[in-house]
Amino acid sequence: MSFSKKNPGYSGLNSVAVHAGTKQDLYGGVNTPISSSTAIAFHNGIGSVPYPRNFNIPNHDAVAEKIAALEGGASALVLATGMSAITAGILSAVRPGEHILMQKNIYGGTRAFADILRNKHDIGVTFIETMTPEKLDEELTGDTVLVYMETPTNPTLDIIDIAPITQWAKDNRILTMIDNTFASPVNQKPLELGCDIIMHSATKYLGGHSDLMAGALIGNADFIERCRTLSAIYGMSLNAVDLSLLERSIKTLGVRVQQQNANALTIAEWLSKHPSIAKVHYPGLASHPGHDIAVKQMSGFGGMMSFELVGNDIAFRDTFLKKLSMIAVATSLGGVESTMTIPVQTSHSLLTEEERSALGIHEMLIRFSIGIEDAQDLIHDLEQALQ
Ligand SMILES: *Cc1c(COP(=O)(O)O)cnc(C)c1O
Repeated sequence: MSFSKKNPGYSGLNSVAVHAGTKQDLYGGVNTPISSSTAIAFHNGIGSVPYPRNFNIPNHDAVAEKIAALEGGASALVLATGMSAITAGILSAVRPGEHILMQKNIYGGTRAFADILRNKHDIGVTFIETMTPEKLDEELTGDTVLVYMETPTNPTLDIIDIAPITQWAKDNRILTMIDNTFASPVNQKPLELGCDIIMHSATKYLGGHSDLMAGALIGNADFIERCRTLSAIYGMSLNAVDLSLLERSIKTLGVRVQQQNANALTIAEWLSKHPSIAKVHYPGLASHPGHDIAVKQMSGFGGMMSFELVGNDIAFRDTFLKKLSMIAVATSLGGVESTMTIPVQTSHSLLTEEERSALGIHEMLIRFSIGIEDAQDLIHDLEQALQ
């Protein structure tokens, strides 16, 4: 039962977020019930063996159909974490001896997986600093089968121009996969820009409340079926209770992200005028180098930004973070609550100082995940902490 086949009479993002995929409750309830059984009636010959690890319980299908509908994809798979979506997606697309062109400034876990691909799977990976068709041409080999990208990037919110890359890949008969976690389907629709496969860390905006881990893959039915077979063997499925939590969370994705977009733009403008702030990295600001591309390929600029405090005084940075009262200094992102991290100490702590400075990441850079609180309260908190 897929969303498109049902022809449900709605098409807006918020209607899709609320209704797509919902499975019938025998008692007439409006929500998909939680099907927690691991022993399930089995009738020989009908599809795959019903078992939660095989990604075939109703709670899985409900969330997968909702996410596929939100991204405009034919099919989706919901997995235990964002990293399981990345590993299952890449391993389903590439065989030993083949080659991947991968953006350099991607999520740390993806970068670490590239080492495993090279060392344990005999898969070649070439990192590309700024992905453009010209750069891809230079690194293309006869074995290249996949281009892997991420935009906006973490933590400096660089913007990659998606459409020319997917066009280049089509011309060369190469698959494209994108990490759409930061933008969420509310702000960016990569399939419409020509991408073949989307992954999400649903731990972030799709989950949205900092209380569950999940991942998702979206693509054509054949590819998602390959991912399902591999992921069932690797044991990457998500349990019914967390699937149910995720289904509930996605119903408010649109309203949450709209509020985060609006808050982030207001705060980015406010921060960029503050004397204690040297620089704000936010694609919604006209001063951001990727602003024009962001306007072209995004419908909102998202709730993520980073900023640099003036000078080199680490004590000033630490006092600022200590003085924050409503905003939490905490890892992860995309929740209803605002959080800040120091990338040097968290997401990019495993890189060398040289690697970090090549990416523009230094001690005074702070990453800010804007929540759904009221903008004036967030500004008030920033103002008192910067004094
Ligand atoms: C968090 C994150 C991941 C990894 O997801 P997990 O759910 O932590 O496994 C991948 N990509 C991006 C951009 C992320 O922020």
